[in-house]
Amino acid sequence: MTAQFSKIIRPDPIVTLDNWAEENIRLPHGDPKEGMYQLSYTPFWREPLYELSPSVRTRKVVVVGPVQIGKTLLGTIFLLGTAALSPGPALFILPTREMAGTHVEIKFDPMTEAMGWDIFPVKKSRQAGNTKSLKKYPGGSIIFAGSEEKTTSRSLSMRYIVISDADGVKGNVGGEGDPMILFPKRAEHYAGIEKILIESTLKIKGASHGENQYQQSSMGKFHIPCLKCGHMQYLEWGTRDTPFGLKYQVWKDGKIRKTWYMCAGCGGEIEERKKFIWLNKGEYIHEDPVNKYRGFMVHGLMSPPGMALWDDKALEWIKAQGKYEALQVFLNTFCVKTYEHPGTVRLKWEVLKARAEPFRFFEIPNDVFVLSLGVDTHDKRLTLTLIGRGKDDELWILYFGEIFGDPNDSYVWDELDKFLARGFPRKDGASLKISNCSIDMGGHRTEAVKKYTRKRWPQCIAAQGARGNTGPILAPPTDVDVTFGGQKIKGGAKVWNVNTYVMKTDIYARYKKDKPGPGYIHFSADLPDEFYKQITAEEFVMTTKKGYPVMSWENTRIGKDNHALDCLVYALAGLMRITPTLAVLRPLQPKPAENQAKKADNRADSRPKPPPKPARRNPAQPRKRRKRFDGW
Ligand SMILES: [Zn+2]
Repeated sequence: MTAQFSKIIRPDPIVTLDNWAEENIRLPHGDPKEGMYQLSYTPFWREPLYELSPSVRTRKVVVVGPVQIGKTLLGTIFLLGTAALSPGPALFILPTREMAGTHVEIKFDPMTEAMGWDIFPVKKSRQAGNTKSLKKYPGGSIIFAGSEEKTTSRSLSMRYIVISDADGVKGNVGGEGDPMILFPKRAEHYAGIEKILIESTLKIKGASHGENQYQQSSMGKFHIPCLKCGHMQYLEWGTRDTPFGLKYQVWKDGKIRKTWYMCAGCGGEIEERKKFIWLNKGEYIHEDPVNKYRGFMVHGLMSPPGMALWDDKALEWIKAQGKYEALQVFLNTFCVKTYEHPGTVRLKWEVLKARAEPFRFFEIPNDVFVLSLGVDTHDKRLTLTLIGRGKDDELWILYFGEIFGDPNDSYVWDELDKFLARGFPRKDGASLKISNCSIDMGGHRTEAVKKYTRKRWPQCIAAQGARGNTGPILAPPTDVDVTFGGQKIKGGAKVWNVNTYVMKTDIYARYKKDKPGPGYIHFSADLPDEFYKQITAEEFVMTTKKGYPVMSWENTRIGKDNHALDCLVYALAGLMRITPTLAVLRPLQPKPAENQAKKADNRADSRPKPPPKPARRNPAQPRKRRKRFDGW
């Protein structure tokens, strides 16, 4: 231990982190507030830092705010402060491994260097074992990790945990549940003296970890006083018509003439140029003051003096009008609000459940002429959804259930074999077999799925979600088994890529149909509520990546499952092999009938045997390829 560090370590139970930070934290060269850390620029961090002090009993803190306000710095100060005052193992989680690495390189290392702390040597590693993602020091350590890394959620007990940029973390890490519950579990061994900080901007309504956590907390909002009437208020953006909020005047050429904040108390002006004064008179008002989970929210209008200038923000706001992506960015990154796209249809699962019909599980109506099974694999079970398809693409959900056991064990697959060998009697006496069984090979049991499907082709296929939104619904399979020399084995395992984005769009379009007919889904009375919750778990959202809108389906039930929806996607996609009634994104060019017939013949020669035709009495398959996506 160096002399420098022993000076810093002076276990003093009375020192709180807010005081400690101002005496010890030095922001590196290049930081806008280079030099000693001053809470007078960001007085709203005083209370959260106090709560994070080892000498204070609070165990959990959530902070939500705009970008560029020092939330990540708060996490860093917390871990450095605890390292100095009460050392212990610490974990700093960012959404991805890459982000964690960048954070260490451009924020953490330069800061400890500026502070003269040589306890975390990286380049000139004198202390063994220190790497970019692991910082050891006497009495403790800090690990930097991405939320998607498998090791992040398991093993090793932690006393201090920071989850930074929580809304960037996926809703259900590795299918193991809500990461905001999962990660803090790592501190269970330290129950009572552990400290957890969750920090985030807010993103998508319903899928925001930050908002979800904040709502469970004391819900503190930073209020500042009007310098004229003394009225304490949380600043809000407001609009032209609100009796308070940010107001602006615009010159004819579109430039901002003036911005000011209209006080909610007296209607007078709260001036940006006096920000330093009113900000330092501010304090948190907690909606649930006795709640031990302390929550803090700061609006972008209260960004440190000189940052996020109101004139610039007013202009940004004006320009964002009518542009959903820009508006979302503004609301998320400045107003600390989640965003709901106006096109988002929040589908209630109860609506679908209300449509359930009296037929029981495995009771096959006469209108069904082909059966398909979707299988979702997990570490400890298989989830099954059996669907039937009839004329005009009508669907019936005929079964939803599970086979318990680890898919690495063969008995699980023996059960599935029995299921697939069964004949399902139709009302009219015909017996149907499952023509297609699509098994999801994502997750941790990929090899088991490959092994199973290898021998059961063509009835069973191994499927996975394709990258991107623009590919075909079901791409021709890829051979994945290779020889010693690296050549693909033709009769080996195959992987089928499914465009889950288009499939989900199709399925959700079906939910909107409320009367039996083409595309309608019939639900069995035996389906549990959980099935409906799972098939409506996702929501269409638009986000912005590098300035471009990105459309996707997101699981909005935080920490909850969406397996039934995955089953439905794969079952339906697998049916494309048998009755391809869904149009491919880029519709095929119409060709003379002769050519097409020839081509089909050629294909039959060179390709593996087509799947068995389903037994049926009414050969009432749709003859024409119907175009489902008009205008795409
Ligand atoms: Zn006032």
